[in-house]
Amino acid sequence: MRDTAERPGTVPWVAMYHSVGDRTCDPYRITVTPERLERQLLWLRARGLRGVSVAELLAARARGADHGLVGLTFDDGYADFVTDALPLLRRHACTATLYVLPGRLGGDNTWDSPGPRKPLLTADGIRRAAAEGMEIGSHGLTHVDLTAADDLTLKAETVESRAALADLLGRDVDGFCYPYGRVDARVVAAVRAAGYRHACAIDPGPLTGPLALPRVHIGERDTAVRLLLKRRLHRLRRRPVVGV
Ligand SMILES: [Zn+2]
Repeated sequence: MRDTAERPGTVPWVAMYHSVGDRTCDPYRITVTPERLERQLLWLRARGLRGVSVAELLAARARGADHGLVGLTFDDGYADFVTDALPLLRRHACTATLYVLPGRLGGDNTWDSPGPRKPLLTADGIRRAAAEGMEIGSHGLTHVDLTAADDLTLKAETVESRAALADLLGRDVDGFCYPYGRVDARVVAAVRAAGYRHACAIDPGPLTGPLALPRVHIGERDTAVRLLLKRRLHRLRRRPVVGV
């Protein structure tokens, strides 16, 4: 049966992932196994849905052609995106947005401390994901809480990360993702001034619009029943996003 939820005036449904791989030690619950991700992608496809990047989702909405599309996002730019997520996305004809940290290329998730270190993509890894049709967005330079950052840091994290990614990819970068999902009106203004056209939060509170898109955390425990519930709750709890 076709899903009829994706129509203009509703909230775009955007799923949030981080790492895909081994989750024997995962205190921040940021990892799903490749097996679970594949079952979730199969669940989408069985319902007539297809995962796409945020750019593709919003472009389709603007044309009124987003029926059956859901956004897929992967935060932080873990190296396992290329090895574990990309083959599954390709197999199931999905794309996604990968939010990376150009100030930490080839580094690790030192901000999640204490906890297991996970390697981040190098410049080559990011280019490979882009070459496979994934959208690359900025997650800032170094993963700082922008709502607590001074003006200079806020500007550097937004403007310089966009410039660095444009250099790395040879194209403009339209998407941003707020580290820790933390966002307020000042941070939205900085992201707009830096030239981004859309930005993902987690729960943006009173903020709305293309620079404060809500997302739903999808984890290892999200089986078919829970995915269905989350999708329904998202529709009920979120106000329509105007201007998207
Ligand atoms: Zn992050």
